[in-house]
Amino acid sequence: MQQLFRLLPSVDAVLADLAADAGLAALPRALLRDAVNDFLNGLRADIKAGRVTDAAQLAPQLVGAQCARFVRAAARPHFRRVVNATGVVVHTNLGRSLLAPCAIAAAAEACARYSNLEFDLATGERGSRYSHVVDILRRLTGAEAALVVNNNAAAVLITLETLAKGREVVVSRGQLVEIGGSFRIPEVMAKSGAILREVGATNRTHPRDYANAVNENTALLLKVHTSNYRIVGFTKEVSLAELVAIGRDRGLPVMEDLGSGNLTDFAGLGLPGEPTVQRALADGADVVTFSGDKVLGGPQAGVIVGKAAIIEAIRKNPLNRAVRIDKMTLAALEATLRLYLDPERARREVPTLAMMTAPPGALAKKARRLAAILKKSLAGRYAVAAVPGASRVGGGAFPEHDLPTTLVALTPLQGAPSPDALRERLLATDPPLVGRIEDAAFLLDPRTLADDELGLVAAVLGQAMDDPAR
Ligand SMILES: *Cc1c(COP(=O)(O)O)cnc(C)c1O
Repeated sequence: MQQLFRLLPSVDAVLADLAADAGLAALPRALLRDAVNDFLNGLRADIKAGRVTDAAQLAPQLVGAQCARFVRAAARPHFRRVVNATGVVVHTNLGRSLLAPCAIAAAAEACARYSNLEFDLATGERGSRYSHVVDILRRLTGAEAALVVNNNAAAVLITLETLAKGREVVVSRGQLVEIGGSFRIPEVMAKSGAILREVGATNRTHPRDYANAVNENTALLLKVHTSNYRIVGFTKEVSLAELVAIGRDRGLPVMEDLGSGNLTDFAGLGLPGEPTVQRALADGADVVTFSGDKVLGGPQAGVIVGKAAIIEAIRKNPLNRAVRIDKMTLAALEATLRLYLDPERARREVPTLAMMTAPPGALAKKARRLAAILKKSLAGRYAVAAVPGASRVGGGAFPEHDLPTTLVALTPLQGAPSPDALRERLLATDPPLVGRIEDAAFLLDPRTLADDELGLVAAVLGQAMDDPAR
């Protein structure tokens, strides 16, 4: 063991070797030295634990290559691109929606240049950052007024705080939603200072349940879109229109948290009909909240639309400053919304919509193209086949709804890494790739792969195959 320890190079010797690699030599010195130290400490631990027992395992060539790889990995940014081969379009863990090219350009310009963010070009005086998307949101949704905040969780929080702090909000027991990342209606309600008044049963709520719950301390009737689950069987929900009728009768405002918030009527596009923002407002909701980066396909944001007096009260709430939208988001949101002025253009150019509505024939063609590339590069290691399968919208939208697709299935041949081992290796490639495993095959869904990513998929699979560190 002592002999093995003596074979380890010094930090300075390793640093001198790494200097020959221009990419590594350009890294900050302190970062490089720490990474080399960590690498050598790892080797010491391997020797101590008996994982390294032979001088050949410490040959300078081998150690040098391993060290360069280790340092490169340690120096990489932590927040990185990932190839999404899962077929889940609004993948909550992989960044939800991708932006349309014009939205990316708008955000980039907002970052690189000064702007009229809070400057009124008509008067040359101070303006409002919220003004930029008010007109377009009114036009697209039919709302009297609009406000945007950091995300929909913030939109729900600030709306409840503004309208119902210290007073009661009536909600059906069937709509006490939890979405991923611990957003729960009862808890957001508690944080807003509003008092939750649950009515009805989990599966059935009637108009009389709301009407009976109203008292002098009631501030608001709330409907929450059960975005990520379905209650099926013996069920009854009170429609928004019915709720609005009760609200009018009792002089109470009605709010709907639409969650995903579609501007698109998907019923004609091979997807189940979902309530649109326009519909909710036409049905009489006084205020509606929804996300910018779910099915809308824009940046992370929370949109609040509705009656002018309510929106104005929310805008003036001091909490608004704490949940304020930033300029990059505003720029990307306005550009995305502008695409919706022509719904057909939005369907083509908003990546989330384009992926959700990709024709099965086009997906089959892309799958066959990918399979042909992979058959060449993985010959002898995996059986490669294009097989029918299903993708999901994700992000809590259209739960339980399968989108027909064609998958590329990789089934290991003699000696190739198992699907589980392959999944693990693909997390360490550059960029990493995330797919699915089903029936002893590793699956790639072309729905969420851009056309220009097919070659990259082959390249990262190649990296996963010949990683010499393993
Ligand atoms: C997703 C969702 C939210 C939270 O929206 P974020 O934009 O993720 O903050 C709130 N309510 C419902 C019903 C949702 O589906």
